[in-house]
Amino acid sequence: MNGKVFLVGAGPGDPGLLTVKAARLLATAEVVVLDALVSPEIVHQIPSGCRIIDAGKRAGKHTLSQDEINQVLVDEARAGLRVVRLKGGDPFVFGRGGEEAEALQKAGIFFEVVPGVSSAMAGPAYAGIPVTHRTLAASVTLITGHESDESTGINWDALAKLDGTIVFLMGLARLSSIASKLIEHGRRPETPVAVISQATTMSQRTVSGTLSSIVEVVAKAVLPAPALVVVGEVVGMRDRIGWFESKPLFGRRIVVTRAREQSSDLKAALEEAGADVIQFPTIEIVPPSSFTSLDRVIEETGLYQWLIFTSQNGVRSFFDRLKEKRRDSRTLSEAQIAVVGDSTAAELEKHGISADLIPDKFQSDALLPLLPRDMRGVRVALIRAESGRDTLIEGIESRGGSVDLAVAYRSVPRYDFAEELRELIREKLIDVVTFTSSSTVENFFSALSAAERTALLSRATIASIGPVTSRTLRDLGVEVGVEARSASVSALSDAILESLSTPGIGV
Ligand code: SAH
Repeated sequence: MNGKVFLVGAGPGDPGLLTVKAARLLATAEVVVLDALVSPEIVHQIPSGCRIIDAGKRAGKHTLSQDEINQVLVDEARAGLRVVRLKGGDPFVFGRGGEEAEALQKAGIFFEVVPGVSSAMAGPAYAGIPVTHRTLAASVTLITGHESDESTGINWDALAKLDGTIVFLMGLARLSSIASKLIEHGRRPETPVAVISQATTMSQRTVSGTLSSIVEVVAKAVLPAPALVVVGEVVGMRDRIGWFESKPLFGRRIVVTRAREQSSDLKAALEEAGADVIQFPTIEIVPPSSFTSLDRVIEETGLYQWLIFTSQNGVRSFFDRLKEKRRDSRTLSEAQIAVVGDSTAAELEKHGISADLIPDKFQSDALLPLLPRDMRGVRVALIRAESGRDTLIEGIESRGGSVDLAVAYRSVPRYDFAEELRELIREKLIDVVTFTSSSTVENFFSALSAAERTALLSRATIASIGPVTSRTLRDLGVEVGVEARSASVSALSDAILESLSTPGIGV
């Protein structure tokens, strides 16, 4: 039986603008036929078992002709596969989606169209330009600026008279003729124009001028493709409501060294502030070499007056193991529970458990003053990584308590530094590196060559989650530029924000 083809829009660049339906289809696709404009982050989401055919076409160097692409879609579907044809923006907005749909229809292949967020709408939105406005523009017209499309015969006269917003796609190379044609046909030379390059990505740049000045402005700015040209009075609103490029961390490159499983909150917080976040896990969370100590605590939770979790990973690994043993939160109902760190507490909340004790500081030593002074006869289970600091254990024991260690996970270093990141370091293009634990510090710096270290530190601000991590950094001779006030990723991103928006610090 024939397969099926989905003509899917991938949105303009920001991976957050992929539709829910597109994401769902990508997750189940057997073949994805890619367009050049699809953002790399979205390409990374394609499951590893799925075959990718790159039909990317860039002006001048066609990889596959349109006929060949149509044929690929038909052939793959005839082979019985579920095919996603993924295109930048919306498939039917200058995406030749119509031609592909027609070819599929002719060949008798079932297809569906999944509209995407078009750059024509999203680009202006991210540049602070509403394409329509009650008093400024009653219409918006999308036009191709492509030379080969002259044949489609743009009616410049009508366009100029319409007096609404015009968005040119593929218009950058022909900007000069676009501007002069509009003036020639009656648009005022002072009409505002914006050119938005790489819209909705961390590299977005917008410049503006008027129909008479824009060519010169763009020549000076050297804007890379893809770019949109927006003409109309609405462009002027950008000065007041431009929001994306004016975010506090916009354009800053920040490296997150946390394990991938843990870095999403920090990444999201920094991205919301506009940063270009490069994930670079120097550490990986793996199961412990043996489950014996953890299993013993799980079997005998009833024996303990206190359970202590010192990290989010500890909680996660504990509950994973609990589930494997077909048990649940009720196992913990007898004991008091202490945690170190707000994120550890939050992880516990996911299992319906509110911690009894959370110290202000993200340090296991900080727990000690909060525990009872007299712990004689008290049994404590400490759930944590294979290696960890022993001060808490010693403290409890000195009060007469006994501690059983439950090793729930190991963090192992990762040294497979992506060449891409090394390049950014050497070129001094990294603004901030964040560290959320001593082990990420040690792993990160031991992976750098001396020259890379010098290049990095000559430019980047080093941000640490708290005093223990900072001490490890200083021991390695690294100056700590930013330290979070409390040990949470939101405090860390707040501290970075504060520091980078203060002139003279960290930049
Ligand atoms: N189907 C796409 C458009 C494809 S035509 C859509 O709906 O967005 C290619 C043109 O789209 C480019 O020449 C450029 O003008 C525009 N374009 C696409 N993505 C863009 C982006 N991120 N920033 C600026 N322009 C973009």
